[in-house]
Amino acid sequence: MVSNSIAFIGLGNMGGPMATNLLKAGMAVTVFDLNEEVTKPLGDLGAVVASSMEQAVSEVATVVTMLPAGDHVRAVYLGDHNGNKGLLSLVNAGTFLIDSSTIDPDSARLVANEAHKNNLEFVDAPVSGGVAGAVAGTLTFIVGGSDSAFSKAQAVLKHMGKNIFHAGQAGDGQMSKICNNLMLGILMSGTCEALNLGIENGLDPKVLSNIMLQSSGRNWALELYNPCPGVMENAPASNQYQPGFMSKLMLKDLGLGLDAASNSQSPVPMGSLARNLYAFHNAQGNEELDFSSLFEYYQSGKSS
Ligand code: NAD
Repeated sequence: MVSNSIAFIGLGNMGGPMATNLLKAGMAVTVFDLNEEVTKPLGDLGAVVASSMEQAVSEVATVVTMLPAGDHVRAVYLGDHNGNKGLLSLVNAGTFLIDSSTIDPDSARLVANEAHKNNLEFVDAPVSGGVAGAVAGTLTFIVGGSDSAFSKAQAVLKHMGKNIFHAGQAGDGQMSKICNNLMLGILMSGTCEALNLGIENGLDPKVLSNIMLQSSGRNWALELYNPCPGVMENAPASNQYQPGFMSKLMLKDLGLGLDAASNSQSPVPMGSLARNLYAFHNAQGNEELDFSSLFEYYQSGKSS
C-alpha cells in the first residue's frame, strides 16, 4: 500500500474540491460516490474512479469521508441493513480513517470505538469554512482523537486546510463544531434583527453596520458576512443569497446542538430560538439559500 494513497468517499459540494486539493498536492486519490456524476470531474483531474466502496478503500493508506449526516457515516463505516459491508471490514490493517462530515458526536464515538476494536485509528475532523474554503484549501479542521491520530491527521488535512485544531478525544471535534455553529446561528439571527430594527426606524444599514462594527455589537456576521443586501459587495446578501452556507445546513447544525443539549440537559434558549427561526424560514422555501437570507424573514414579518 502506497503511503500517499487516499480513498475519498462523498464528492459533493465540499468533498469534490477537497479531493481536488489532495490531487493538486500530489496524492494518489481514488474516489467513490453513490452519485457517479460528481466523480467524473475528479477522474478528469487524475483520480481513479472506483465503482464500489470496496474497490475504493482496499489498498489505500488513508480514507477520508465527507457525507451528509450521521446515518450515512454509520452506514459507510459499519455497514447497513441491506447487507452492505462497512469500510471497517473492507480496509487493510493500518489504514488511517478520517471523517470530515458534520454529524452527532455519539455517531463519531461509536465509529471510533468500532474502529478501535478492529485495530484501526479513526478521527472525527469536521470543517468550518464552507465551499469557498474547500475550494481555496483554507478550511479549518476541528479534530477529535488521540494525540498520535491527530499527528497523522495533520499530515493529510494540511493539504485541504489552513488551521487544524485538536479539540480532544473522539467526538470532541464534532462537539466543538456544533458549539461553534450554535453560536453562529445565534449571531446571524441577532445581526439580522438589529439591522432590520434600525432600517425600520429610519437608519441607513451601511452607516448602522459601520457603527456596530466599531462598537460592542461587533461580530463575525457583521464583519465578514453582512446579511443586508448592498452593505457588503462580496457577501451572499448582495448576490441574491446564493450560498455560501445553505439555510438547511444551519438548521441541521442547530438541530445537532439541541440534541447534544438534550443529552447533557444543558439550557440552550438562544439556540432553540435560532433553530426555530431557521425552521420557519426554511419552510417558506428558503432552505437552499444562504443562511444570511434569514434577514428576509425579519423583513417579511413587517409586510405581512
Ligand atoms: P453534499 O450533499 O453536497 O455531498 C455529500 C455526498 O455524499 C453526495 O455526493 C452523496 O451522493 C454522497 N454520499 C451519500 N451517501 C453515500 C454513500 N453511502 N457512499 C458514497 N457516497 C455517499 O454535502 P456537502 O455540502 O458536501 O456536505 C458534506 C458534509 O460537510 C455535511 O455533513 C455538511 O454538514 C458538512 N459541511 C458542509 C458545508 C457546506 O458549506 N456545504 C460546510 C461545512 C460543513
